[in-house]
This record gives sequence, C-alpha cells and structure tokens, in this order.
Amino acid sequence: MAYLVKAVPQSKKFRAFAVECKDIVETVRKIQKLSPVASAALGRALAGVALISGDLKIGKVLLQINGGGPLGEILVEGDCEGNLRGTVRNPQVYLKPENKKLPVGKAVGKKGYISVVKDLGLKEVYQSSTQLVSGEIAEDLAYYLTVSEQIPSAVSLGVLVDTDGSILAAGGFLIQKLPEAKEEEVQRIEKKIQKLPYITQLLFKGYTPEKILEEIFEDLEILEKRPLAYKCTCNMERVKNMLIALGKTELEDILRKGKPIEVICHFCRQKYLISLETIDELLKKQKI
Ligand SMILES: [Zn+2]
Repeated sequence: MAYLVKAVPQSKKFRAFAVECKDIVETVRKIQKLSPVASAALGRALAGVALISGDLKIGKVLLQINGGGPLGEILVEGDCEGNLRGTVRNPQVYLKPENKKLPVGKAVGKKGYISVVKDLGLKEVYQSSTQLVSGEIAEDLAYYLTVSEQIPSAVSLGVLVDTDGSILAAGGFLIQKLPEAKEEEVQRIEKKIQKLPYITQLLFKGYTPEKILEEIFEDLEILEKRPLAYKCTCNMERVKNMLIALGKTELEDILRKGKPIEVICHFCRQKYLISLETIDELLKKQKI
C-alpha cells in the first residue's frame, strides 16, 4: 500500500515527510506504457508531488516540469486526500542506462522550469517557478522550495526499475528546516542525509517511510499517515467544458467533417466518444 507520513522531531525544528509509492508508479507505467526512463522520471515527480501535498488540508498541488529534453513536459498532481495522477508528453522515450543508472536528467533536460501551482479552493491560485538545476527532479524540487518558497529543503526521490521494465521500488523524502533550527543542527542533519544509502536501495530493502525518517532523526513523532492512490479526476462534464473552450470555429469544423470524435485523457487513458449531437449541443450552449 502506497502511503505518506508526516513527522516532526521532538525539537520541532524541522519537519519531515516520506513516501512509498511503488504500486502507484507501477499502475501508471502500465496505463501509459512508460519506458524505463519515463517511469523513473514520472515516478520521481509523482513521489515529489505527494511529498509537497503532504501538508495540504484542502485543495491540490500541480507540479509541472519542462526541461526541453526528449521526454517533454511532465505534469503531476496531488491533492489533500492523497490522490495522485501524472503524465509525461513522450512516454516511450528510451535512453540507455549510464553507469547502471537511468539517465533521468538527460531525459528531462535542464533548460527550463519547474513550476508549482497550488489550488487551495480559493478564488486565486498560487503559482511560482524556478529554473531547473539538473533535470534530476529531486534537486530541482529542493531548489524550488528553498528559493521560491524560502523554506530550506532537502529532497530525495528514487525509482528502481527492473530489467523487464516493472517497478521494484519508488518513493522519497523531504526534510524542511524551520526558522528555530540552528546552523549546527542543520549541519548535523545534512551529514546524516549525506551518509544515507540511495533512497531506492532503502526502499528496495523494505524500509518503510517511517523507518527512512528514523535514519535521519532519533526522536521522531509521526503526525499523520496518509494512504495514496492513483486516481484521475476526468469525466464527461470536464471533457465537454474542454471542448467548449476550444471555441466555436473548432466545434463547427468537427461538425463539418461529420465524424464523432474521441477524446483520450492523458492521465488515465480513458476514452470519451463525443457524438455529433453532443457537439451540436455544445455549440448551442456557447451561443447563449
Ligand atoms: Zn483521466
């Protein structure tokens, strides 16, 4: 079962999140027929968005990564209930492993931005972005949180892919410094993080999110344990709204061609068949 934990050490000078999400990455790999490097990149992004949505009481967070690499744009979303979804523009990109590691940075690229949109159910959404550092995602997310949200953060994300493409392990952690933490305490935690084995190694050995955080903090209090699920929010109503947004000319064009259209959701690959009668209805709605 995929889940997220939120915890604080007794000193309350840091906050910590960790996630295990192998099943979710395996699900999305099957739905979207992801290549190994696409699984690794999208899986890291999904673990990342799960971590940063770990603090949400309401609403959702959208993470967008566009580094100009062959994978194209990565889009992931996480909400306050632990629902995740994500997609990558070119899911079948294949790049050979380098030093036995999937070259995620190369596949994502680093000429571009990481953007975060927070929709907390208010009138306005909060949006911010920073330049990519490496395209490896964890570093990029840490840089974003430290610079844009001004919370010094350490992020580790990892996906281990088997030779047949299936997912062996996936997850990560996020440690954030709170204002009360002194420099020497920060250094002590940094050293502990540096000494840790790769996150994929820990997850593959069966370390739970709690156990991973206990490797960094001795006196941890677990505040919340939240189950995670891969869940899409698409439905016919949203597809119709999307079609209306295309505009009158586009819809008239579909009618003129005289064939029903098929809309496929990028996130869950659900197919929606739209009849010409429906297009006609949408056009009438638009004229009002
Ligand atoms: Zn969908």
